[in-house]
Amino acid sequence: DTGLMWFRRDLRCQDNAALYHALKACRQIFCVFVLDSDILDALPRADRRIEFIRESLVDLAGQLQQLASHHGIAEAGLVTLHGRAGQALPELARALSINAVFANHDDEPQSLARDQQVVEALAASGMAFHSFKDHVIFERQEVLTQTGKPYSVFTPYKNAWLKKVDAFYLRAYPVENHSAALAPVPAAWRAAVPELAAFGFESTNLAALKIPAGSAGGRLLFDEFVSRMDQYHATRNFPAVKGPSYLGVHLRFGTISIRELAATALRMQQGGSEGAAVWLSELIWRDFYAQILSNFPRVATASFKPEYDAIQWEQGPHAHALFQAWCEGRTGYPLVDAAMAQINQTGYMHNRLRMVTACFLIKDLGIDWRWGEAYFARHLNDFDLSANNGGWQWASSSGCDAQPYFRIFNPVTQSEKFDAGGKFIRKYLPQLAGLTGASLHSPWLARPVELAAAGIELGRNYPLPVVKHDEARALTLLRYAPVKKST
Ligand code: FAD
Repeated sequence: DTGLMWFRRDLRCQDNAALYHALKACRQIFCVFVLDSDILDALPRADRRIEFIRESLVDLAGQLQQLASHHGIAEAGLVTLHGRAGQALPELARALSINAVFANHDDEPQSLARDQQVVEALAASGMAFHSFKDHVIFERQEVLTQTGKPYSVFTPYKNAWLKKVDAFYLRAYPVENHSAALAPVPAAWRAAVPELAAFGFESTNLAALKIPAGSAGGRLLFDEFVSRMDQYHATRNFPAVKGPSYLGVHLRFGTISIRELAATALRMQQGGSEGAAVWLSELIWRDFYAQILSNFPRVATASFKPEYDAIQWEQGPHAHALFQAWCEGRTGYPLVDAAMAQINQTGYMHNRLRMVTACFLIKDLGIDWRWGEAYFARHLNDFDLSANNGGWQWASSSGCDAQPYFRIFNPVTQSEKFDAGGKFIRKYLPQLAGLTGASLHSPWLARPVELAAAGIELGRNYPLPVVKHDEARALTLLRYAPVKKST
């Protein structure tokens, strides 16, 4: 049999479930990635993720060639198509006379719809579609409550996850044992991975940010993180400290295997590492939100708790002006503004700051969480529908196991607690660098002489606060009145 491996959010050879099954089942396997115009057309022309994907494809093509070369197979590699996946993929499959397409699951609603279209087109030509779990440790309905329902509270989910996990679920797929089935790419399809410009994109500051792409990049980051995983529980909340792994973008595009990460964390946890235990918990949150989206796809547009859709958000020009100030980091709250500068300049935002900025948008500015969710979706390198939606619904209190609606972060207290020395704020808001102590966290309370000495004129080179936190807090408690009875 001849098969076609369709790479999507799994841009690696090592420990790739679908690739393993394809190579094992077929006499020869072709490999393809589709630059899907349905996705690309909606994006800005300079998008760090597209550059990350392109670099990762170059790395992937190299890995495929190298695996094949061990068996003396020349010209193996990756076919890169540009077009609508629903059409381009079945066309290629027909042209290569393949019997079956192999891919890994992608449970986002739009991806499922796309796959359905592909399955039907393939079936019409007598071709099969086989798909596999690869992106998470447990998916869909693999972890259920005792009454057979999906979990909607994290802690019991985590306990069930930890009880179920064992070597079977964490074992790597030995792709290399079957790589002799990699097929040479026919001349008509043989080409290097196209440059960004060839499919209408521009380069970004990805290289300047030193965000390493591909499996090689993921490996580099993970090896470095393993040496500080032990401290993760103590360092992870401070944005000025190198605490987290920065692997989000690699997990998003599958340039590193979740099984390898979870196996390492579990081993270190069993060896008594508190940091590893907390990091493993974060990986379990990832599975948790993935199964929420899969079992409750309505969360993509609606509140997990339906009564929260009765909340009236701010509307009209004033709301748009406030939203714009948040997007551009002009709220007058330094930690919020520095965090927004971080996402705008780098595509990354520290987890603590994602919570702070989301809470601020929703509960200080009274803006619908979906606006913020969409902004993050456009800007985060590691944007993932299930985790992003989970994070936003957590902050808006409308999600499963969310923070209670009356818990409203105080942006100044958060700043004093998690960026006490102001190192993070100074990095992203150099115009405030001359302020010290409490004034850096709340410049509007600084004495005029202090502001003058630091060269700051509020309203001119740094904004006055767009809202007063205490007033906003009171308004928010009123705004959430419709859900009070149900909480
Ligand atoms: P680390 O702290 O090293 O964590 C390791 C990995 O665990 C992450 O890469 C991620 O895959 C997973 N993880 C960690 N925390 C969470 C979480 N709360 N939920 C789900 N998975 C988690 N994460 C995304 O991957 N994509 C998103 O689009 C996203 N949007 C978010 C939006 C909001 C409002 C909030 C509050 C959180 C969001 N998160 C999202 C979760 C978390 O902030 C990021 O995963 C994390 O900051 C990525 O950095 P890291 O790789 O250094 O994380």
